[in-house]
Amino acid sequence: MTDKQMKYKVYTLKNYATIPQVQAALSPAEIDAIRVVGNVLPFKVNNYVVEELIDWRNLPNDPIYQLTFPQKEMLSPAHFQEMEQALKNDYSKSELKLVANKIRYELNPHPAGQKDNMPFLDDNKLSGIQHKYKETVLFFPSNSQTCHAYCTFCFRWPQFVGIDNLKFAAKETNVLVEYLQAHPEVTDVLFTGGDPLVMSAKKLQEYIDPLLEADLPNLQSIRIGTKALSYWPYRFINDKDTEDLFRVFEKIVDSGINLAFMAHFNHSNELKTGAVKIAIKKILNTGAVIRTQSPIMNHINNNADEWAKMWKLQVRLGCIPYYMFVARDTGAQGYFAVTLENAWKVYRKAYNQVSGLARTVRGPSMSANPGKVQMLGISEIGNEKLMVLRFIQARDPEWVGKPFFAKYNSDAIWLTELEPIEGKEQFFYEQKMEVEEEIAIEALLN
Ligand SMILES: *Cc1c(COP(=O)(O)O)cnc(C)c1O
Ligand code: SF4
Repeated sequence: MTDKQMKYKVYTLKNYATIPQVQAALSPAEIDAIRVVGNVLPFKVNNYVVEELIDWRNLPNDPIYQLTFPQKEMLSPAHFQEMEQALKNDYSKSELKLVANKIRYELNPHPAGQKDNMPFLDDNKLSGIQHKYKETVLFFPSNSQTCHAYCTFCFRWPQFVGIDNLKFAAKETNVLVEYLQAHPEVTDVLFTGGDPLVMSAKKLQEYIDPLLEADLPNLQSIRIGTKALSYWPYRFINDKDTEDLFRVFEKIVDSGINLAFMAHFNHSNELKTGAVKIAIKKILNTGAVIRTQSPIMNHINNNADEWAKMWKLQVRLGCIPYYMFVARDTGAQGYFAVTLENAWKVYRKAYNQVSGLARTVRGPSMSANPGKVQMLGISEIGNEKLMVLRFIQARDPEWVGKPFFAKYNSDAIWLTELEPIEGKEQFFYEQKMEVEEEIAIEALLN
């Protein structure tokens, strides 16, 4: 293991063409394509990703290259041409933005009703808090609206490209504390963003301290959703406030609250470096646990042996595999999409190869409007082939864990493309959803 010093250097559209590896490995047309797509989807990478994660001899198929560098095919040919032409015409910055936003709005920037989940407290809409599943509240600190690099598949992309009014962000923890006091059923707070571990230790402490000081009897776990272990493990080694960051983690653990890292790892290559191994060890030493999750995506990890390898490495390093997600229906989904049938086959074939310590992982799971729906498999009743699903999480806790069926559809990539089996008009949860939507609309009108 090496613990070499590395100073964070960021690359964006402004300076990516100066990266030596880019100049050596890419053709001028490929370099231009990055500019075209990067004007629509978020693009940001850093020296650790470029120097230690991407294997530049393996282009264009290298998974981490696909994960961080925009590819021409991530936009439809029509959208690509539109932006290419705008750049050729030397449009002004604001004109480019208009073209970009027009395309962005055609890419379903707000999938799965995310904006519907903002709760009310004393009739004020709490942007910055999302409460969808009974036990867990998502908290979006205003200081965590960015990441150490951006994933090309990210469903949070509207936050990074600055499409106004699609942001969730909260400035203060006080509202969160009040909300938790008013909602004793909530046991978990999940800090998310962007990446909350981009912010300084001092800022993070300002969010965490009021939560601890409030001494909430219901608060059981603080979770931090982060990709810092993949994109900038030096955050936990030798950033200038690394030690202060660990004090914040230790304080959480010492106050009797479970600290869970929800770490995004999309490929085993992110677990190979000396830096990530040291970082994981140091985090575990604070008493935190690390759980891991990733979507399954074409061009990145659509391969059972790769998933098995990744889960095994995670267990070896002391991490707990948690979720395999289906890529969301937003942004460059066409490029990354894996059918539900294939996702299930990959999951099953990978699951078959690992011991029980890695079988904590659940999936493939869609974070859809009614809840997190797991594709359990394909079965047959009589002569009818059908898909078996269940809720892992649901808007209504009553729905959780009941298997339900859909007509077999080998092309489907998302819940909304599935249909109930013969003789049923709706899925069992749909009627209830409609009633809830009416109530929500009435609440808005009043
Ligand atoms: C995934 C998710 C959670 C957390 O669910 P767990 O199954 O408890 O990990 C909470 N809120 C929302 C909106 C989510 O999508
Ligand atoms: S780390 Fe998470 S929030 Fe950040 S770009 Fe990747 S998927 Fe999006």
